Amino acid sequence: MKVNEPKIKEKRWNISMEQEAARRWAEENLYRFRLGTKKKIFSIDTPPPYPSGRPWSVGAAAHYSQIDMIARTARMKGYETFFPIGIDRNGLPVELYTERTYNVDIHETPRDQFIELCKHALDDLEAEMIGTMKRMGLSGNFDSYYRTDSEEYRRLTQATFISLWKKGLIYEDTRPNNYCTDCGTTIADADITYAELPTTLVYVRFRLKETDGTAVIATTRPEFLCSCQAVLVHPDDARYQKLHGLHCLVPIYDREVPIIANSAAKMEFGTGVVMICSYGDTSDVRLFRELKLQEVVAIDAKGRLTSAAGEYSGLSIQEARRRITEDLENKGFIEKKENILHRTPICDRSRTPVEIVPMKEFYLRQLDFIPSVRKIAQRMKFHPEAHRQILYNWIDSVAIDWPISRRRVYGTEIPIWYCNACGKPNIPEPGPYYRPWKDEPPLSICQHCHVNGGFSGEERTFDTWFDSSISPLFVSGYMRSERLYRRTFPVSIRPQAKDIVRTWLYYTILRCYQLTKKQAFRHAWIMGYGVDEVGKRMSKSKGNVVDPIPLLEKYGADTFRFWNAAEASIGSDFRCSEDRIAGTAKFLTKLWNLSRFISTFPQPARARLTFTDRWILSELDGLRQRCLEGYDEFNFFIPASELREFVWNLFASHYVEMVKARAYNSDHTFLKADQQAAWFTLHECLRSILVLLAPICPHITDYLWTGIYSARSIHRETFPVPSRRRTDTLREITSALEEFNSAIWSFKKERGISLNQPLLRVYATRKLKRMANDLRTMHRIGDLRFGAPKYATKELVAKGETYFAP
Ligand SMILES: [Zn+2]
Ligand SMILES: [Zn+2]
Repeated sequence: MKVNEPKIKEKRWNISMEQEAARRWAEENLYRFRLGTKKKIFSIDTPPPYPSGRPWSVGAAAHYSQIDMIARTARMKGYETFFPIGIDRNGLPVELYTERTYNVDIHETPRDQFIELCKHALDDLEAEMIGTMKRMGLSGNFDSYYRTDSEEYRRLTQATFISLWKKGLIYEDTRPNNYCTDCGTTIADADITYAELPTTLVYVRFRLKETDGTAVIATTRPEFLCSCQAVLVHPDDARYQKLHGLHCLVPIYDREVPIIANSAAKMEFGTGVVMICSYGDTSDVRLFRELKLQEVVAIDAKGRLTSAAGEYSGLSIQEARRRITEDLENKGFIEKKENILHRTPICDRSRTPVEIVPMKEFYLRQLDFIPSVRKIAQRMKFHPEAHRQILYNWIDSVAIDWPISRRRVYGTEIPIWYCNACGKPNIPEPGPYYRPWKDEPPLSICQHCHVNGGFSGEERTFDTWFDSSISPLFVSGYMRSERLYRRTFPVSIRPQAKDIVRTWLYYTILRCYQLTKKQAFRHAWIMGYGVDEVGKRMSKSKGNVVDPIPLLEKYGADTFRFWNAAEASIGSDFRCSEDRIAGTAKFLTKLWNLSRFISTFPQPARARLTFTDRWILSELDGLRQRCLEGYDEFNFFIPASELREFVWNLFASHYVEMVKARAYNSDHTFLKADQQAAWFTLHECLRSILVLLAPICPHITDYLWTGIYSARSIHRETFPVPSRRRTDTLREITSALEEFNSAIWSFKKERGISLNQPLLRVYATRKLKRMANDLRTMHRIGDLRFGAPKYATKELVAKGETYFAP
């Protein structure tokens, strides 16, 4: 019989075909979101990536390719899918990038000009990012992509502030808080990470006032001596019982401070005697409050010592520390010095140590909302479930309200004008975008004293998380499009990275609840980190970031996508290495060759199946079930590894090899009906494989699908429903079959016989009896018998007979 030409002409999958597929999708506007649809809507709060510099890491690209798999999964489950794309362009990294790019200093550039530069600085990076997303095959709604620094976004941020202000949830207070002298702004606890930094622990002698003795205090911050207001010892510390109630003199400054017995003193740290200064750390803040000590401001907003430091006033912290240590040493106050590693809070943005400086800032009440946020965290579905704990841990550690004002330039302005007559804040109506530092006030009389004495605009901006935390409200049209909002909020899923659970996820739940009383999302999907070949997290500072663009150019989007789906289970960190990506390419080649082979056969509408066909279809059913379970969890590792295993190790190695002869039926050994059954089954398997793989590898599956099966894109299909037939018993013979085939293959291999060489007589297990015809032709067995033979194994082989099955 003449073999048909394959419907897939090209001998191999070429990545230029990916662009061809993408072009077709764009022409068809395949991923358009239809708000008017009757279908259920699935909405995604896509993380707007931050273009803070090149390259975008391979880990981030993997993250976005999996978010696209979420969108495609939803579509194939029959949802109308809303997949907005945004770019986050607010805040400090933008300012730093602008300073670097244009070689300007933010403090020496007029605010207006600097903001213009910021707007342009990111355009190239942003264009590259959007290009990469498209190249990866993201099925997002690109035609309406948003920027968090747009007027539209910022006026929503401001409107939500005004609304929270009116609800009484915002207040201003001067209190010591985390302050980054490098960024020049107050920051929230969530913006802090910790690092073990080398420092010197100096043991300083304090003279006692009442006796001739001294108390030795170990400190890493001698520059804080000027703000020392008390010395503590633990009440149970036997060494220092006699010090209780005495006073000591602060070296250099000669000020008298009380020695207080307090359990906050750690007996095991240094000498067990500690000095309390404003403010070495957060426990100092608490002790100043509890012991009613008088605050001395030692450090100013620029990170220099204040006049309280006397002769050290005006010095930087580092310089003051060096000089004061020297002076203490010269005056004989130092007992010894130790070099240690000290756990130091550092600013997550500038990676420099954080100080505690009293500043007047706006705070958003969050402590009152902790119980509600915890309840929402309990109700949400987490993928993976284990990552729910990250959020719980953070919720449990929140100790103060959220400082939301920042002394920065490139961010959303706080919309307040202060009355020049009474000084009180005037809040405008929500709606427009306000820039109080330059705009005319939108009111003429003060809301409080009703005097027209002129106004001064607020100059601070919001913490950028104050913007980012309303992303699900922004994308769903909150306060802008009632119709969109009604249909897309609460948002179905929040996909995001692990390290911003305590910021982006937490703040979003909080803010959406405060504004709408609703739970922002049903699902939270938390991906692990991309790590390098030795398991280290990629970061620009470590210099181990791998650029995804050359990899995409070399291997194509589908290989890249399949690699990251198959690399690790949802939530786990995944290794990024070119070798592993290259290894994945082989699977797509296998799929291509297999599809091309199957495409040579006609597709009967129905067939009378043989036992072998029913067996593989029962395995296919199991595959569908397992893949769909993985897709339900948005855990793409499951369908990716299941499909690879099925295609490679079961379908291609066993079934296709078994039915090849039947499908060709060149010498008419098989019934016509049996030949048709093979054709039918081959296509049935391939169709399912392609559909199940489509969310992970959208290009190659669509190319093959439209080449073999339909003019309509595979991305308009829905997932196959696993059949209700009970087929488990058929699946039970799989291992017997695998064992039998492998035994024959290795039998021939061990003896250097080619696979085509006939075997005289073979005994197989009875379980395989109903596959006899296929097995006989597959292995070219003259006489295939089932059950155990009469002789022992060795003698069988000697007689030209082979026995495998138990
Ligand atoms: Zn900083
Ligand atoms: Zn007034």
